[in-house]
Amino acid sequence: MAQQIKYHSLSIFLGGGCNLDCSYCFIDKENLKKIIPNVPELKRGISFFLKHSIKEPTINFTGGEPLLYWGELKELIEYLKRNEKKRAFIVLSSNGTLLNKERSEFLAENNVGLSISLDGKQDVNDVNRVFKNDKERSVFKTVWKNIKNLNKEKIKISLIFTPSTVNHLTENIKFFVENGFRLIDFYPEVYGLWSKNQLNILKKTFSEFSITKGLEKNSENFCCQQLNLGPDGNFYLCDKVFSFFDKRRKKYIVGRGGGIDKAKRENLLRKAKKGILKITDSKCSKCPCQEYCFCPIGLYLWSQENKKDFKKHFQTFCEISKIYISNFLKITRAD
Ligand code: SF4
Ligand code: SF4
Repeated sequence: MAQQIKYHSLSIFLGGGCNLDCSYCFIDKENLKKIIPNVPELKRGISFFLKHSIKEPTINFTGGEPLLYWGELKELIEYLKRNEKKRAFIVLSSNGTLLNKERSEFLAENNVGLSISLDGKQDVNDVNRVFKNDKERSVFKTVWKNIKNLNKEKIKISLIFTPSTVNHLTENIKFFVENGFRLIDFYPEVYGLWSKNQLNILKKTFSEFSITKGLEKNSENFCCQQLNLGPDGNFYLCDKVFSFFDKRRKKYIVGRGGGIDKAKRENLLRKAKKGILKITDSKCSKCPCQEYCFCPIGLYLWSQENKKDFKKHFQTFCEISKIYISNFLKITRAD
């Protein structure tokens, strides 16, 4: 009998609308912003997820910028709170530019965790993160003003570093720590191509870190336990499919409020895995890092649909993964 999947997280993509125009953004914002969130279907999707998830799952509201959908977001959070048979950690991933007192209070009252995207100090953050309609205005200053009086211990900073900002990674992490933030996630831009020199800078930077928490195994790699709800109320295979519009995105619908088409989902995952192994000469299946690696499926789908050279992009993805894994594992063993 097929094993019953218990999903550990649900990502709700509220819509493609966004007031920023970040250089590394992969979302098809212009087209996806035309879709209005279908709140009744999203509620059915949430309800399905809660029935089939682990004990304390995570529900993450994303976009685009989810605060542009404040009415719908509020209604969904209130729905979750009213129907709380199961405790879920609710997180809002936001660019932070549209936070205000009323919104912050509502989110705090409802125990919604905030994950704010900021790449570092103003001079680094504003290189890649800019307002769509006002390139001169500082995104950093706007966000800083909105979050500086909030409880910083409850805010997670989500920092992206790119080939052009990697040499500032350490000073930017320090900057947030010195300003009272304790939760800082930092991710490389894996959709870009990194030169040898830039990878060496990353390697050197990581080797200087003093990290006390080791890397957790991700043995479900290639067998995703995250569900992704789109604004139309459909479940999608992977969050990266929001970089495609309509026909191409719809190929990856794997269910709707009432349930998941498990056979279709597994088949699409299997097909992607087969494609990755074929192009990379089965590199991953022989790799000792396999249990800890980031999932390459999103990158594969993105490359296929956007006619990018997956092999080339995979090389960067793989090298960055190995730098992460070898450093974090080394530090864990040294504990
Ligand atoms: S804030 Fe997020 S959705 Fe908006 S442009 Fe930046 S990366 Fe894209
Ligand atoms: S480190 Fe590279 S080869 Fe190893 S599992 Fe990750 S992507 Fe595959």
